Amino acid sequence: MTGENAQPKASHYIGGQYVEDTDGKVFESLYPATGQPVARVHSATDAIVEKALASARDAQSAWAETPGFERGRILLKAAEILRKRNDEIARVETLDTGKAIQETLYVDAVSAADNMEYFGHLAATLTSEHIPLNPTSFAYTLREPLGVVAGIGAWNYPIQVASWKAAPSLALGNALVFKPSEMTPLTALILAEVMTEAGLPDGLFNVVQGMGDVGAQLVSSPIVDKVTLTGSVPTGAKVMASAAESLKHVTLELGGKSPLIIFDDADLENAVSGALMANFYSSGQVCSNGTRVFVQDGIREAFTQRLIERTTAIKLGDPLDPDTQMGPMISKRQAEIVAGYIAKGLTEGATLLTGGERQTVSGCEAGEFITPAIFSALRDDATIVREEIFGPVMCLLEFSAEEDVIARANDTEFGLAAGVFTRDLARAHRVITKLQAGTTWINNFNVTPVGVPFGGHKRSGIGRENAEAAVAYYSQIKSVYVEMGDVDAPY
Ligand code: NAD
Repeated sequence: MTGENAQPKASHYIGGQYVEDTDGKVFESLYPATGQPVARVHSATDAIVEKALASARDAQSAWAETPGFERGRILLKAAEILRKRNDEIARVETLDTGKAIQETLYVDAVSAADNMEYFGHLAATLTSEHIPLNPTSFAYTLREPLGVVAGIGAWNYPIQVASWKAAPSLALGNALVFKPSEMTPLTALILAEVMTEAGLPDGLFNVVQGMGDVGAQLVSSPIVDKVTLTGSVPTGAKVMASAAESLKHVTLELGGKSPLIIFDDADLENAVSGALMANFYSSGQVCSNGTRVFVQDGIREAFTQRLIERTTAIKLGDPLDPDTQMGPMISKRQAEIVAGYIAKGLTEGATLLTGGERQTVSGCEAGEFITPAIFSALRDDATIVREEIFGPVMCLLEFSAEEDVIARANDTEFGLAAGVFTRDLARAHRVITKLQAGTTWINNFNVTPVGVPFGGHKRSGIGRENAEAAVAYYSQIKSVYVEMGDVDAPY
């Protein structure tokens, strides 16, 4: 291994410690800026997967009996450690993903810590219902864990995805086996270390590495009670089909092609900021991105001009350089997918206003840097308007009337996110109500505080992460009817 190094102590984390099994196929984490390996890990063998699942199962029942405030205290401690180790985690996240360090320092471990804090407090304050029925009977509910949760992650927000699944799982008394994306195996292991240091009993948070087959093995295991996946729609469909065989609970956080609607009366500078945040953060590799930007006639010229000015000023570079605003695509494959969509946009007759070119960065010649692209003159049925690209490609679409843009915004199989920029708040609320999306913003985009539920409508997902809404997806209710009078039987 040369240059940067982020080699973990071992590939997997099971029962509160690092575990290796060199029988598993080796795969590398490459620093996307240079293509150089920063770590090598082994894919989990069947034995490792079974060991992790057994470890989770064995630890879960005692954890379920642990009072909520004690569970919460451990999550709060984990948040504190995550914040202390923030800069180190940010560096590893940047090496693993190629995202600019100016993002990972402020978003990834920070979001993980926020999540631990939120669910730590929630664990301490969970109550259930008392249901009065009549003078001699009442009922109450118990909120019980589901058991063993299998978490499967995507590569764009590795520690965030792991934490968004771990925090509610653990707060509610479940145990977790988490499989990070094979592209980004590293920071879930750091999270596991952090949980142990925070006092989490062994076996409650396990990490196993591997490709889709390891994920599939987790999903089909009889030990697993619930599956929570962040990934693409096709993977979501496979996971749900497999989970259906044994009727497991599922949470699916999937892809999108979200609309962002800019009305004439929007604050110009804020609307441009919103469109940039909706498209170019993390080199465009964000599930909730508002890649279909509908701009009303009256503001179109000024908006487009300012958008191009600010887009062309975005600084691409080595992600470890604090001045870099945009890093490379995570992989050659992802860069090829994006380049393929840009070529398709051109052959289908769209106008490329700026960007979309391969850029060479000094010292990072092997990195797949693509300048942020803005297309205009698009038809709604163009491929790049319909399909998720997962790269820095914004589609500008024109509109005149409110009703028309709502119908066009909703004309998609996805429903993850949506946004509206306007100074007319009555219109903002009216339009948001009609947009078919699970996570929406008025006069902002892509902000996801932990206290706000996150998830998709339509094919973008099932279930919710974050906020109190997650409780329903990581626990189950038991109703208890209590009779204090005589039993009324007709026999
Ligand atoms: P992906 O679907 O290729 O892989 C996601 C994970 O699923 C990986 O860990 C992979 O190994 C695993 N996997 C693959 N096949 C599997 C199978 N048959 N059974 C079980 N697991 C399997 O997605 P990706 O390329 O890693 O991530 C990009 C996608 O994720 C995009 O579509 C993006 O929109 C989506 N995403 C969604 C959210 C969200 O919260 N909604 C967040 C981030 C990314």
